[in-house]
Amino acid sequence: RSSFFWGPVQLEDHESQSSSSSTAADNIHDGIVEGIEGCIGNTPLVKLRSLSEATGRTILAKAEFLNGAGGSPKDRVALHMIEVAEEQGLLVPGRGDTIYEGTVGSTGISLATLARARGYRAHICMPNDQAIEKSTLLHHLGATVERVTPAPITSPEHFVNLARSRAREHTASSTTEGCGFFADQFESHANYQAHVKTTGPEIFRQTNGQIDAFVAGAGTGGTISGVAKYLKESAKLTRLRVVLADPQGSGLYNKVRHGVMYAPTEREGTRRRQQVDTIVEGIGINRITENFEAGRELVDDAVRVTDEQACRMARWLVEHDGIFVGSSSAVNCVAAVATALTLPRGSVVVTMLCDSGTRHLSKFWKQIGDMGLEGGNDDEQGAQKESEA
Ligand code: PMP
Repeated sequence: RSSFFWGPVQLEDHESQSSSSSTAADNIHDGIVEGIEGCIGNTPLVKLRSLSEATGRTILAKAEFLNGAGGSPKDRVALHMIEVAEEQGLLVPGRGDTIYEGTVGSTGISLATLARARGYRAHICMPNDQAIEKSTLLHHLGATVERVTPAPITSPEHFVNLARSRAREHTASSTTEGCGFFADQFESHANYQAHVKTTGPEIFRQTNGQIDAFVAGAGTGGTISGVAKYLKESAKLTRLRVVLADPQGSGLYNKVRHGVMYAPTEREGTRRRQQVDTIVEGIGINRITENFEAGRELVDDAVRVTDEQACRMARWLVEHDGIFVGSSSAVNCVAAVATALTLPRGSVVVTMLCDSGTRHLSKFWKQIGDMGLEGGNDDEQGAQKESEA
């Protein structure tokens, strides 16, 4: 713990951190929130004007990139997982505990941020093929980052298995301080329950229950299961259509539509380096997680989205709406349009804008540039190309 001299004020780090947290909802009246936790949730539901006009249906998107800790819906999940662990005594502020997680990035960023705010360390294991922005950010947040070569889930080197064993090693070791806590977003029910508790009720309130379809991709499955559970079971919107947005290479589309998981052929299995062969990050998976299973019966249909469609959609949203998103949000919007077109005119479809495009400059947005989709009124790049030619 450090102290820090700032102008005329000597700041001492407090040993004991407050364990109480409040969400934006608790403090909405005066606009003052208690710490970064208070900047989580209550995100706007944005009408996507261009897509609504083009389809004749109302397409609304939850602006989850505005969650103020880690900038994605994973803020809700990370906060809830930490709160549950604190209630169970698995995490104790000030004891020197470390939170371990296997993540493609967003959950790690949310956990690393909240860990700082509540007096823990964070150790994040992630595949090394994800956009570099995410691991750089984790590094600046002070997390320990292990970037590993993608491996099958059966391998001890898979990023999730590695995080689990690192947490165990920490707790067992006599040389490390505190305990290791494995957050386990894929299998922990605290994940989907965060959406039952917050995202689902917010969508219900914001639409007054006037919603015909909810469309979302699944990384862990927490969002789609939690929102579907709240809207269909708690709010009794029994006629709501819940549609999975699935990127190319993911096995969930076949699971939802035909009841079987897509298994890569032997040739594909050896040729494909990644488990999921797509440029899209954060969604798409080839196994059934506890969090997807929790809501699987409530998912009515699936739409498969290609990388090219996702790239074109991301570009469209910038050009027509001034909205700059990452790849999973673009997949969601493609599937939202496809779903809207199966419903009568005037129907209302809700989807998620998960994170900002700034997290995806080096990969997804680079691909969009390489596809020649960029343009508009900057002409530095265009001019450079002309001079090269
Ligand atoms: N978008 C992004 C950017 C993500 O990182 C994730 C989670 N990995 C999702 C969407 C999917 O959310 P969920 O895990 O709730 O299925």
